Amino acid sequence: MLSHEPKSSVTSDQQWDTYPWLSQRAWVEINLSALSYNVKQLLSILSPQTQLMAVVKADAYGHGAVTVAQTVLDSGASWLGVATVPEGIQLRKAGIKAPILILGATHTREQIHAIAQWKLQPTLISPKQALVFSNTLEAINYKTPLPVHVKLDTGMSRLGTNWQEAAEFVQLVQRLPDLTIASIYSHLATADSLDPTTMKQQQQRFEQVIAQLRTLGIEPPCLHLANSAATLSDKALHYDIVRVGLAVYGLYPADHLCLSIDLKPVLQVKARVTQVKTIPPGTGVSYSHQFIASDELRLAVIGIGYADGVPRNLSNKMQVLIRGQRVPQIGTITMDQLMLDVSALPDVQEGEVVTLLGTEGKEQITAEDWANQLNTISWEILCGFKHRLPRVAVA
Ligand SMILES: *Cc1c(COP(=O)(O)O)cnc(C)c1O
Repeated sequence: MLSHEPKSSVTSDQQWDTYPWLSQRAWVEINLSALSYNVKQLLSILSPQTQLMAVVKADAYGHGAVTVAQTVLDSGASWLGVATVPEGIQLRKAGIKAPILILGATHTREQIHAIAQWKLQPTLISPKQALVFSNTLEAINYKTPLPVHVKLDTGMSRLGTNWQEAAEFVQLVQRLPDLTIASIYSHLATADSLDPTTMKQQQQRFEQVIAQLRTLGIEPPCLHLANSAATLSDKALHYDIVRVGLAVYGLYPADHLCLSIDLKPVLQVKARVTQVKTIPPGTGVSYSHQFIASDELRLAVIGIGYADGVPRNLSNKMQVLIRGQRVPQIGTITMDQLMLDVSALPDVQEGEVVTLLGTEGKEQITAEDWANQLNTISWEILCGFKHRLPRVAVA
């Protein structure tokens, strides 16, 4: 029997995942115990009155939104954050009842109708958009006021009303009869930095708005500011909800935050050896012969490539794990396949499982390792795995 066989059913509802037996050349394993462990670790550093919003946008950072959402809610998260209306609808269609905040901007009548119909909670970013919401809901005679989340720009320069105009904006939203303010929030630009100056300035602006609202007799029902980095770095940033993405998936937003709690990576990427052969010295490997064997070499082909989310820029730079050992990748990574030098493990068999990201014995390769090599961030690596790879849940 080959080791590391996927143990349970495919979890995503993508059409091509309906045929897992056709696509077992490569897959993504989602460790639900690690996911649940991370949620509990995060809850352990929150005060009892702070709630955990698991951010499951972008198909739960490539992990599969529905399975992740169900698991994190079962483990103690109380909110879900998505980027778009369809992401929210996907969760509702799967029977998920928890409150869902749409972090992105929504403007059109169709979006607003869908938000109302599926009981999603939008982010309000400007007076103009708030009026469109109010008018659209009035036109469909929406019965109960829609819970909305007022977004302030305190220094990220992305979505939201500038903090200087925040009090006026909140007062406007309060006056609109079809809307009820569920929370006021902002987003930090530099929470992962070693230097807290900018983050502190953003928090001060946020606090200033809250103080101003209180002098106007407005008590904000719920406040939130923290992403993963802020949640791990400073309890004073937690407020009523923390919005955590990356840390839920078991990765640290910065090296200096590794000591705060123990987290376990949830995602592993695996593929099978599809052919093994011996090539003589001087043989070129893959497109453009970017690798030439200097000695006789045992070569293994595996069925995963850049169309699955293995970045082509890792060609000749990455390693994989087989039988707990590190093995170098050689030649250009192609669309659906890549090659390995398995000379150190000459009896590797066709059909054997290779770990591209994950742990085998004492060896571990993480999304952060790839990100460091590619000069990017682990968030982008996780979101890069395509739906051609079935997501397989393991306990
Ligand atoms: C994506 C996102 C988060 C989560 O960020 P992480 O760094 O992955 O924890 C939180 N808040 C907002 C507004 C986001 O867009």
